[in-house]
Amino acid sequence: MASMTQESDLALVSMNTASLYDALNDVPDGFDGPRRFVHVIGTKVFVDDRNEDEAWPAHFIGVLDGEGWWAVDVPDGDDPSYGASVDLYGYFAIGTEAEWLLAGRAVQTIGWARTHRFCGRCAAAMEPSAGERGMKCPDCGLISYPRVAPAMITLVTRGEPGPDQEALLARGVNFPMPMYSCLAGFVEPGEDLEGAVIREVKEEVGVDVDDVRYVGSQPWPFPHSLMVGFRANYVDGDIVCEEGEILDANWYRKDDLPMVPPTISIAGKIIQAWIAE
Ligand SMILES: [Zn+2]
Repeated sequence: MASMTQESDLALVSMNTASLYDALNDVPDGFDGPRRFVHVIGTKVFVDDRNEDEAWPAHFIGVLDGEGWWAVDVPDGDDPSYGASVDLYGYFAIGTEAEWLLAGRAVQTIGWARTHRFCGRCAAAMEPSAGERGMKCPDCGLISYPRVAPAMITLVTRGEPGPDQEALLARGVNFPMPMYSCLAGFVEPGEDLEGAVIREVKEEVGVDVDDVRYVGSQPWPFPHSLMVGFRANYVDGDIVCEEGEILDANWYRKDDLPMVPPTISIAGKIIQAWIAE
């Protein structure tokens, strides 16, 4: 079967975060290394080796190359960066891959802390839960943990591997640029990742796929997704774009591609890996 051969050839596009930094919720015992502070201003970041204000809430987020990193919740109206803060897209161009991951972890952690100040069940003020990253209700005991929303992203291909193989790329209604990308969508309750791939592809462009294969994952802190990347094989159907979601979608050969996403995103990485096959 051709797909069996193809399966073994698929390259993983994950970075493997554990190889880049240690994601930790507590300061390691006896830690006395240098410190870095990701000041989160709205959803922008300002990274500095000085904590602007010790009174602002701070959350330890991990260790990178011996340096301890904290996320600092900057109150509305304050700006310790004096206008120099950047959003996470901007920070991607400034920091290393690991620094970008930590900045994203900081924005997600602060975003979670800001939206879990009160109990969702009884509305009492929440308190940090000891020994873990959680907010606990002192009245009813509910604990809220940072939310990570899994979303699948997939590149559908048609035909045998080689120069004549085509990929289905789509332009979403929300893309700011005339860019074509993989199909993506959130996983629903009661659904596995493979099921989400098959359902989302059918909903968004009307085609049937099978042979869903994992190719990697990426944290995507906009605001709290985990993108899980797949490849899938076209089976049947003509492209019919979902109204309100997809502006346009087409089959593309490697030598005739439209504008595709940059490799900051897993979509860009999956497309580049396909081109390189
Ligand atoms: Zn409660």
